[in-house]
Amino acid sequence: MKIAFFEVRDWERDFLAPQFPGCTLYFHPERLDSSNLEAAAESECLSVFIYSRVTAADLDHLPQLKLIVTRSTGTDHLDTAACRQRQIAVANVPHYGENTVAEHTFALILSLSRNVHKSYRHAVEGRMEMAALTGFDLKDKTLGVVGVGRIGIHVVKIARGFGMRVLAYDVRQDSFLAELLNFTYAPLEQVLAESDIITLHTPYLPATHHLLNRERLRLTKRGALLVNTARGSLVDTDALLEALQSGQLGGAGLDVLEGEELIREEHELLHSPRAAEALQALVRRSELLKMDNVVFTPHNAFNSREAMLRILETTVANVLAWQRGEELNRVV
Ligand code: NAD
Repeated sequence: MKIAFFEVRDWERDFLAPQFPGCTLYFHPERLDSSNLEAAAESECLSVFIYSRVTAADLDHLPQLKLIVTRSTGTDHLDTAACRQRQIAVANVPHYGENTVAEHTFALILSLSRNVHKSYRHAVEGRMEMAALTGFDLKDKTLGVVGVGRIGIHVVKIARGFGMRVLAYDVRQDSFLAELLNFTYAPLEQVLAESDIITLHTPYLPATHHLLNRERLRLTKRGALLVNTARGSLVDTDALLEALQSGQLGGAGLDVLEGEELIREEHELLHSPRAAEALQALVRRSELLKMDNVVFTPHNAFNSREAMLRILETTVANVLAWQRGEELNRVV
């Protein structure tokens, strides 16, 4: 079997190379896009990370393809409907970073609540007014967790450790967990209205596109913080900018941004078929980055050594299971 890996770093290649005896492996550090599809043309298996968009049109150029193993939990970068139509199996990595992403969520929350990022900026500029850096305790504050799945539940546990009250919104509810961890489910509107900090942990689906739109952002407590480590398009970025500028939101911790996949490599912008969209995303990002009360990490929440290793181990297991005719972590 020929397997093409995209977006792999050297240490990942070194880990993966001995795992597939008898297979021909191709490793590409760059993401897959229409300009390098050729490199995967003969492959039966394709392994990508989230910056490789695989569209129906791309699949038409990959006639041998039988399996896509994405080294991520989310699959919104893949046209899974088109895969299903062409009988291409898709497997993901459902468990690798629950605690990892939850820990990063608190890195963002604490950066905002204790002005870590602002303190650094002020120190670099030689400014020493302590009053501008006064933060707030998490203890006794209300955390609104939107999406209490694998990551969300770790966020709830950590929040309870800080002595926070937790309100949660999810389309599915688990009353046993709520009782065990002492949190309360509530409608989204109530979560937004009562939370001091709101954190998003739902997948990106048509139903969750701009889940936080202009109307919903107006429902938040004035000065609340918003943290998004899930997917950028859960939030309407123009509405987010307005809410931050007007003080409706007191700050934002963002690991993900709408359109981030379009602006990863700025030099590619001009040649992108979605150049206008990419430029818009770039302008919005630079507006956000200028703000003192915005903490930004570039889709880095999953990126711990332990989590990266778990991703590769599951990816290997997914391919080997498929070769044996077994279904493991299949989403298609
Ligand atoms: P999960 O599937 O375990 O949990 C998602 C939860 O969201 C579920 O409880 C589900 O019922 C709920 N949900 C689904 N639709 C909803 C809706 N319309 N409204 C409210 N709740 C809804 O997923 P997870 O493993 O916890 O991951 C959550 C998301 O985090 C992923 O989909 C992915 O996009 C993102 N993620 C980001 C990173 C990163 O590095 N920033 C890493 C991993 C995952």
